[in-house]
Amino acid sequence: MPESVYDVVIIGAGPAGIQAAIHASRKKTRVLMLGRIENSALYGAHIENYAFIPGVSDGCDILRTGLEQAKSFGTEISHEDVLKISAQKDGFDLTLETGKSVSTRALIFAMGVAKKKLNVPGEKDFSGRGVSYCVDCDANFYRGATVAVTGDRSAAVDGALTLLDYASKVYLIANKLEVSQELEHKLRASEVEFITNSIQEIQGENAVGSVLLDNGETIETEGVFIELGSKGALELATQVDVQLDMESFKYIATNNKQETNITGIYAAGDIVGPPYQMAKAVGEGCVAGMEAATFARAFKRKLEKA
Ligand SMILES: Cc1cc2nc3c(=O)[nH]c(=O)nc-3n(C[C@H](O)[C@H](O)[C@H](O)COP(=O)(O)OP(=O)(O)OC[C@H]3O[C@@H](n4cnc5c(N)ncnc54)[C@H](O)[C@@H]3O)c2cc1C
Repeated sequence: MPESVYDVVIIGAGPAGIQAAIHASRKKTRVLMLGRIENSALYGAHIENYAFIPGVSDGCDILRTGLEQAKSFGTEISHEDVLKISAQKDGFDLTLETGKSVSTRALIFAMGVAKKKLNVPGEKDFSGRGVSYCVDCDANFYRGATVAVTGDRSAAVDGALTLLDYASKVYLIANKLEVSQELEHKLRASEVEFITNSIQEIQGENAVGSVLLDNGETIETEGVFIELGSKGALELATQVDVQLDMESFKYIATNNKQETNITGIYAAGDIVGPPYQMAKAVGEGCVAGMEAATFARAFKRKLEKA
């Protein structure tokens, strides 16, 4: 038997989840937001392309501010992960990592995407200090610098080509390439230096200074972009038969009200697909929060009349 009943539960405490929480809470609904800001993609990021916030801001400060705003509008917050979801007659039951269970009329998925890690020494130490997982987000910080991209798929090749517009020297490091002939041709014809090898270690003092390759060679670089594709946090969604996009099967499919194919379930932010940007996550979170709250209130009225 669930211990608490909510109108709206939001899974994810990143920009999409926080904005959804703010809008849903202001519609006089009981809202719970689950997840940790430390696990948001924004946490280690530096933002300079979000309207109204000039200069470069720390993602963790933005998240902390948002969390306090959501709390001030009445959002209940639990820094727990959700392990299981099941559909019920009047909504959904969620099992949390502590074993606690909660139930809700409406659910918002805002779990972001888990970026694949390279898992080499130095990667964690230099995350946000030369190690990046997002060319579109961070290319501008590497104007005139030497950078290395690693990955064998289109995300890496496309990322390396994009970086040519910013950096003075771009390496692409991979043992092989698994991309279309057209893209490989474009790469070979470009100024990107392709190195057939893999990164064994990312080195530096206060920030990235070089990478050590498997063949013992050292390449000096100020940035390492890890572009290994992304795996969406989709396991939970598929437990309740939420449909994925028909093209890549990596994201949750929604309409322009952020509704999924399952009545009462909404999705917002990176989990519904690129571009991975705070502005998009916030916009979709706003729509999902308002729609989910409206749905939950109508549902409650219907139950009261019955
Ligand atoms: C290095 C870097 C630099 C970036 N730079 C920029 C930039 O300059 N400009 C820009 O606009 N964007 C930038 N981004 C992208 C931006 O951070 C993301 O687009 C944004 O954070 C997506 O928000 P989200 O809410 O969808 O997901 P996230 O912020 O990733 O949040 C996901 C949330 O879901 C939670 N979660 C996941 N699974 C569960 C579960 N099972 N149970 C409970 N909670 C769960 C996590 O704990 C987390 O709180 C950058 C990203 C990175 C990594």
